[in-house]
Amino acid sequence: MTLIDRYAVFGHPIKHSKSPRIHGLFAEQTEQVLEYTAQDVPAEQFSNRAEKFFAEGGKGLNCTVPLKELAWSYADYRTERAQISKAVNTLALQADGAILGDNTDGIGLVTDLVTNHAIRLSGSRILVLGAGGASRGILAPILEQSPHSLVIANRTADKAIKLAAEFHANGSVIGCGFDGLESRQFDLILNATSASLSGQLPPLPTGLLAEEGCCYDLAYGNEPTAFVRWGLENHAVKSLDGLGMLVEQAAEAFFIWRGVRPRTQPVIALLNAERPLIADYRK
Ligand code: NDP
Repeated sequence: MTLIDRYAVFGHPIKHSKSPRIHGLFAEQTEQVLEYTAQDVPAEQFSNRAEKFFAEGGKGLNCTVPLKELAWSYADYRTERAQISKAVNTLALQADGAILGDNTDGIGLVTDLVTNHAIRLSGSRILVLGAGGASRGILAPILEQSPHSLVIANRTADKAIKLAAEFHANGSVIGCGFDGLESRQFDLILNATSASLSGQLPPLPTGLLAEEGCCYDLAYGNEPTAFVRWGLENHAVKSLDGLGMLVEQAAEAFFIWRGVRPRTQPVIALLNAERPLIADYRK
């Protein structure tokens, strides 16, 4: 039995995950002694592998694509934000042996937008592109910031309409297909589709972004994503990718596990310094 506290990220594929690096930097900064590994876990193996991990003394897991819904089911109980999002990205062993499920994606995004980039959500007209797991996770935390309105647009319009209906109680939110965006304008456009991962862009009408508007792609890479480029071409004041969200959601998970809040700025700065093509693009 090892004495060091063990954590891991489960996902499939997982080879390019930055999470071990991020948590390693957090641990070093806060002088916490722990091990954090990335493990390739296909969906059909998730529950056995999680069982084994915790049975062998593991303290906490992050779960990424395609495991967040399975992690939600696996948890013995969930935080309210995880309950609403129907997806769990953080599992934490509790003192009584139960497994708590949380979702830190939404708070990670809001912290990156509001705290790191001073982007105003309150009173803003916000568009969320996509109606998958990531969109579901970010809706409640965004609506908590009291935007003027929130529109969800998705390739499969029906999914956006259903998702919006689930959040009616949380604020002004409607769902539509991309064709429902004609002649609308938004102060902030969030791309929560996975289109960027294959270099694609949802079909967006011209004039969609208001003057002084901002764009944010939840996806990230070593080069600007197609949506980040679209934002800059459409005169966004800021057009950002989701690396900051990744670090902020990791910091929330670290806090849940260790009770210590790491400083995220040095970690974001370090990871950005390793992406010279992004820095060049922002000039
Ligand atoms: P899902 O597979 O659950 O959903 C994918 C969504 O993208 C669906 O709405 C789908 O539409 C839409 N979509 C896929 N391809 C296209 C396309 N070519 N054109 C238009 N729409 C498309 O994925 P997730 O919600 O889990 O993830 C979405 C994105 O968010 C990913 O890029 C992921 O990397 C990123 N993410 C980033 C995080 C971070 O920390 N930075 C955290 C979580 C997610 P349809 O319903 O019609 O199929």
